[in-house]
Amino acid sequence: LVLAEQVTKSFGNHQVLSGIDFSVEAGEVACIIGPSGSGKSTFLRCLNALEKPNGGRIRIDGEDVGFNYRKGKFHEWNSAEYAKFRLNVGMVFQRFNLFANMTALENVACGPARVKGEPKKLALARAEELLERVGLAGHGHKYPMKLSGGQQQRVAIARSLAMDPQVMLFDEPTSALDPELVDEVLEVMKSLAVGGMTMVLVTHEIGFAREVADSLAFIDGGVVVEKGNPRELIANPQHERTQQFLSKVL
Ligand code: ATP
Ligand code: MG
Repeated sequence: LVLAEQVTKSFGNHQVLSGIDFSVEAGEVACIIGPSGSGKSTFLRCLNALEKPNGGRIRIDGEDVGFNYRKGKFHEWNSAEYAKFRLNVGMVFQRFNLFANMTALENVACGPARVKGEPKKLALARAEELLERVGLAGHGHKYPMKLSGGQQQRVAIARSLAMDPQVMLFDEPTSALDPELVDEVLEVMKSLAVGGMTMVLVTHEIGFAREVADSLAFIDGGVVVEKGNPRELIANPQHERTQQFLSKVL
């Protein structure tokens, strides 16, 4: 479903991605680990077209991200095409990015109502269901300030789900949380995974990667150093850099 080939990205003369090859099948969970500054967030941002790669190719569901092929030529997407694409790719960040002036329920309902033109009543009813799904039934009337970090992050996940994305990208969704709030968010993500959602997750939660992910990629220096079955990769990393990294986080 997601295919990246030789993706490169530089900021000025600082090359951050040096040829990333990466893929995820529909319904699978792919985890990405790697040291700080190795390009993990930049790669995720390329996957949902928040950043434009300088080279290589990203395809989602068979479509080139950022380009149309018409009349024998590649054309860069216009802003409407970018906007339409992003509806299809949910993204959850380290910081929850909820709208502070809206209740949990409104946060979840506002995307479908505003962007997709869903009738407000329907959007609110679906938002109730989604909040229930992330374990927040009865919290819909609360403003973000009144929710814990873990609850806010679960609202953020529900808000992404409300757009019915084909793929969900998570960038260290639990690393800003107090330790005792991490599990409730991981539980929600696990239930999504079990429900068949295609997910790409940058995380330091090695246990989650081992238990839930279908594949695990180790990124360092802007390339995928090693990728494989999570259990095998964690138990028996092939590259010295992977071994060093894992010995620090395990
Ligand atoms: P972390 O684990 O700390 O989140 P990361 O693997 O996600 O790190 P990135 O955020 O992708 O790393 O950053 C990789 C490199 O790219 C860093 O050196 C960063 O300073 C640089 N970088 C990222 N975004 C930009 C930008 N918009 N402009 C300039 N440099 C950037
Ligand atoms: Mg990052």
